[in-house]
Amino acid sequence: MKYDVIVVGAGVAGLEAALVLASKGFKVAVIESKPVEKIGDKTCGDAIGVHHFEKISLEIPGNVIDYKYQGVKIYSPSEKHGLIVPGEGVSVNRVRFGQWLLKEGLNKGVELYDSHVLADVIVKNDKVEEVKVKKVDGPIIELKAEAFIDASGARPALRSKLPETWPISDRPFMTDFNIAYREVIKSEKPVTGEDSKYALIYLNAEIAPGGYWWLFPKFEDGFILNVGLGVVWNGVYNPRHNYEKYLKPRFKGELIHAGGGIVPTRRPIPTLVWRNVGVVGDAAYTVNPVHGGGIGSSLEAAYIVSTYIGNALEAGRIDEEKTWEANIKYMESYGAKQAGLDVLRMYLQRLSNDDFEWILKNRIVDGSSVYDLGVKGELGEKILHTVSAMIKLLGKPSLLNQLRIVRNYMNRLMSLHSAEYPKSPGELPKWNSLVENVVEEYTRIIGFERGQKVKW
Ligand SMILES: Cc1cc2nc3c(=O)[nH]c(=O)nc-3n(C[C@H](O)[C@H](O)[C@H](O)COP(=O)(O)OP(=O)(O)OC[C@H]3O[C@@H](n4cnc5c(N)ncnc54)[C@H](O)[C@@H]3O)c2cc1C
Repeated sequence: MKYDVIVVGAGVAGLEAALVLASKGFKVAVIESKPVEKIGDKTCGDAIGVHHFEKISLEIPGNVIDYKYQGVKIYSPSEKHGLIVPGEGVSVNRVRFGQWLLKEGLNKGVELYDSHVLADVIVKNDKVEEVKVKKVDGPIIELKAEAFIDASGARPALRSKLPETWPISDRPFMTDFNIAYREVIKSEKPVTGEDSKYALIYLNAEIAPGGYWWLFPKFEDGFILNVGLGVVWNGVYNPRHNYEKYLKPRFKGELIHAGGGIVPTRRPIPTLVWRNVGVVGDAAYTVNPVHGGGIGSSLEAAYIVSTYIGNALEAGRIDEEKTWEANIKYMESYGAKQAGLDVLRMYLQRLSNDDFEWILKNRIVDGSSVYDLGVKGELGEKILHTVSAMIKLLGKPSLLNQLRIVRNYMNRLMSLHSAEYPKSPGELPKWNSLVENVVEEYTRIIGFERGQKVKW
């Protein structure tokens, strides 16, 4: 079988990419290891800011939304201090969302190979020529295409099989990920009052070292809750163990769904396109490094990469020269912010409960600064001013100095991922080693151990 584009993975990223390309009239196949009825069933906190849908003009039907939030409320470790970050958000019904995106794609002619696993990738003449896919309990089949998109999630199935000389095969560090576990429960006790209006995030380095734990109400009655936690993936912490120890006794009720997974919490992959391959979603590390939300940015990356792959196919030539603009657009739209937040993320992962308590108790940050930080990725002057004022009153001179370092490196990495991002693929190796040197220097200064590289 020969297609214009083969997409591996029918998560939000793969389904969006397939929909964009099929809508332009390309012959698209999607390969997915799950059976069709399980498409969309993803272990997730399900929370997303509505601006993500607006940004790519995706009009989702009402029945895909389980619940609406007025913003996020962040609690200190003692849970005595809370900070409200306003901003409209929703709890998505992941199965309905996935099934809806799938149906949209199928209506446009997408061909689905469900219950099929990507088994091998054949590279010939410096491009991917075909993939071998295997149906569960079935034979191996060979599928050819002009272009391929890896949308197979945090353990990328396609790009991990590409030549290591291709920068799109980038291998991350384990600490570039959070490992998470969550349960959806019908709780014995509902969430009521002000808390029921927000997605609740709890900073606690004992319960969720290198991450946070969350309580996201899912239905109006306040009884259905999405509760979970993420920890830095360093081979030491186990989120399921911590859930059983700290959260299970607190949230008693009927279990509806349980599961775990890894989440990339770093800057984006150096390039989302190479030869005739594109990479989108978790496979391209498009998640927000600080809050771990990746549904919106997966959709955005999928929209951008598939648009430029479509343009290259129309122009009759597909390689990184022809699709490079996808990188520029993604970095502009989300990637540069991610790079800044990656710097902040490593700093936050080193803070103690005493630090979190001090920051929230003394209102070092306010809701609008945190919102700006999330939207623009900048550690603003306002935060530094508040910190310096507080330091005069309470002491903690090291904090101001640390925050200045963090801010400088945030700005440096953001600049490298925006104005200084390579204008053409030939400049990528030099740029990449510059980025690596900056990250190496920063982690050395703040004493962050990056650990081992991931073995896929
Ligand atoms: C516990 C947890 C909580 C989260 N909470 C939130 C949240 O509240 N808000 C938010 O925005 N984001 C959240 N995220 C992140 C978010 O879920 C992801 O960023 C997003 O779903 C990524 O979409 P994707 O399409 O890139 O990958 P996925 O949804 O992982 O899709 C990849 C697909 O590829 C398929 N696949 C994989 N390998 C193969 C193969 N070899 N052959 C064929 N098919 C294959 C998989 O079956 C899967 O369907 C959370 C993640 C986790 C793990």
